[in-house]
Amino acid sequence: MNAFNMNIPEKTFEKLNHQGEFTRLAVSPGIINKHYTPTQFQIIAKVVGDTGAIKYSASYSILLSIPTVGLGEAINELQKAGLYVAKQGSIVAMKACDFCDGDKMEAAPITEQLYDSLEGMTVPARLRLNVNGCASACYNAVYDDIGLIYQKDSFDVYLGAVPMGANAQAGTLFAKRIPVNQIESYLHAIILLYKEHARPNEPFYKFYRRTKTADYWDIGLEF
Ligand code: SF4
Repeated sequence: MNAFNMNIPEKTFEKLNHQGEFTRLAVSPGIINKHYTPTQFQIIAKVVGDTGAIKYSASYSILLSIPTVGLGEAINELQKAGLYVAKQGSIVAMKACDFCDGDKMEAAPITEQLYDSLEGMTVPARLRLNVNGCASACYNAVYDDIGLIYQKDSFDVYLGAVPMGANAQAGTLFAKRIPVNQIESYLHAIILLYKEHARPNEPFYKFYRRTKTADYWDIGLEF
């Protein structure tokens, strides 16, 4: 009976920001871990308080609307509770599957390495890089800007997905079986092409579809 209860929420980020100063944060238990602890939920409730708002999103995170006035302290508390506060803006943003809740962790070390190397790089428009740990790809890597699907010490690389909208479309297979020890430099080369040749604010899928026949896609990716 609650399925359609409160279809129009009282407090949304837009409404709150209209009334006062709020900041939106995306938090999660980590890039791989998807399990919150009760304590983390308590901290989330505390920093949001009676005035803020909480919403789940399609990007494996919870969105918080927090009074801007206490923002620094709130971020500290969230991080101290072990939560990951996503960076905002036109950057490379990593996503990953949960590696079967830790049962299939072969690709976890390279995922961390890619995070250290790529997350936060500035790019023309926010670029989502999604790593899935097996061919089931149950976290929809092929629907993100760069989708990586791990198989036997290598990755298949998908590019060009239109992640949302009436024309949403999966990306297409761009490269097969890139060895784990080459994937970091391979992705750097792709991101460099995007940085060098994209128009201002051009989303990755538009850039890729506009330029994929250009010579530099071959020249830049010789390994
Ligand atoms: S993509 Fe594969 S490894 Fe990752 S959660 Fe799904 S089934 Fe598990």
